[in-house]
Amino acid sequence: MNTDSPFRYRNASLFVEDVDLAAIARDHGTPAYVYSRAGIEAAFASFVRASRDRDVLVCYALKANSNLAIVELLARAGAGFDIVSAGELQRVVVAGGEPSKVVFSGVGKSEAEMQLALDAGVRCFNVESESELLRLDRVAGQRKRRAPVSLRVNPDVDAGTHPYISTGLRENKFGIAHDDALSVYRRAAALPNLEVVGIDCHIGSQITSIEPYLAAADKVLELVDALHAEGIALRHIDFGGGLGIRYRDEDPPSAQALLDALFGRLDRHPRGRSYQVLFEFGRSIVGNAGVLLTRVEYIKRNGERRFAIVDAAMNDLMRPALSDAYHGVLPLRQRDDMKAQHFDVVGPVCESGDWLARDRSLAIDEGDLLAIASAGAYGMAMASNYNTRPRAVELLVDGSRAHVIRERESVESLFALERRLP
Ligand SMILES: *Cc1c(COP(=O)(O)O)cnc(C)c1O
Repeated sequence: MNTDSPFRYRNASLFVEDVDLAAIARDHGTPAYVYSRAGIEAAFASFVRASRDRDVLVCYALKANSNLAIVELLARAGAGFDIVSAGELQRVVVAGGEPSKVVFSGVGKSEAEMQLALDAGVRCFNVESESELLRLDRVAGQRKRRAPVSLRVNPDVDAGTHPYISTGLRENKFGIAHDDALSVYRRAAALPNLEVVGIDCHIGSQITSIEPYLAAADKVLELVDALHAEGIALRHIDFGGGLGIRYRDEDPPSAQALLDALFGRLDRHPRGRSYQVLFEFGRSIVGNAGVLLTRVEYIKRNGERRFAIVDAAMNDLMRPALSDAYHGVLPLRQRDDMKAQHFDVVGPVCESGDWLARDRSLAIDEGDLLAIASAGAYGMAMASNYNTRPRAVELLVDGSRAHVIRERESVESLFALERRLP
């Protein structure tokens, strides 16, 4: 655990800020997602600080964790937002965020989503194909508006991350190929209901080195020059998100190191200082600020393997099942009355893929409470009701207080929209 983490042991009990996590489990039950307000605010502030005196807008990528309280917290801190659906736009609006600070990403925007975003007045549509460009022009014309657009270019760089979360390579569905970008920009500039305002890229997620960002920046700046030469002037450059966090022993660059390196590239560029710079960070703002609390139901041995069967499962936290992801496992009480043994930590769902952690050395017994670490991003946001499991309660801790920011679902609510036979 990082020394600056809001999750720390005090006398062998795991606390978040000034709250004993075991008290939360007692009062609210398990599984439970618990986030630290200070942790989220500190991560966001590190990007603001790293922006120095530049014209930078840090957009929070809602899909990492879209709880209204978290969106509101970041809106109050001055964040912009990166959204990928009309639903996320509605969350931003309800939470008090400003649509004028919203960039709308995603490969499959529907007409209805475009209408909603145009009417709300989003800052920019990050367009991912020529067909989308034509549709947006048509929808904007119908609404008698000009749609601000940026093209998401695919710089064809390898972010060095898991295939499921790598998006900047030529052969995936995201963005417009670098070689086609100029002609699509020309097309955009000629369409009557569009206003070209920027360029963007997003090369992947959980990126732990600066090099792929710089490679992408060089490709993007090349295009910016070519566009300038044709009289297509941009106002902003959006370098996307994707900065990694420490789950285990990764050593991602700090916000400052990453932004300074990118600013260095911009400074070498003749007009580099004239562009507003946007980012779309999700995981690096909320990932390390949340844990998933769970209780050990059973300890079980099958052959050589020892299992801790817990009350959280792949429907609560899908990352291990989906991409073999590692999450730390922290007992809420450190025991000295038993010695550690190796466990696979697994859930009750009827799938062999239902595991949360493998081969961990833990001193635990039935009934003990565990925190699954670094679960603030792509945890609850990807949770499902598989096996008719109500989704977990979510709490935000602020100093010595814990606020419920989403109630635990009831079973009745899971089938409330279903209908019996006529
Ligand atoms: C998912 C996504 C992000 C955020 O990625 P993180 O790895 O959480 O920082 C930013 N931009 C786009 C377009 C995305 O799809």
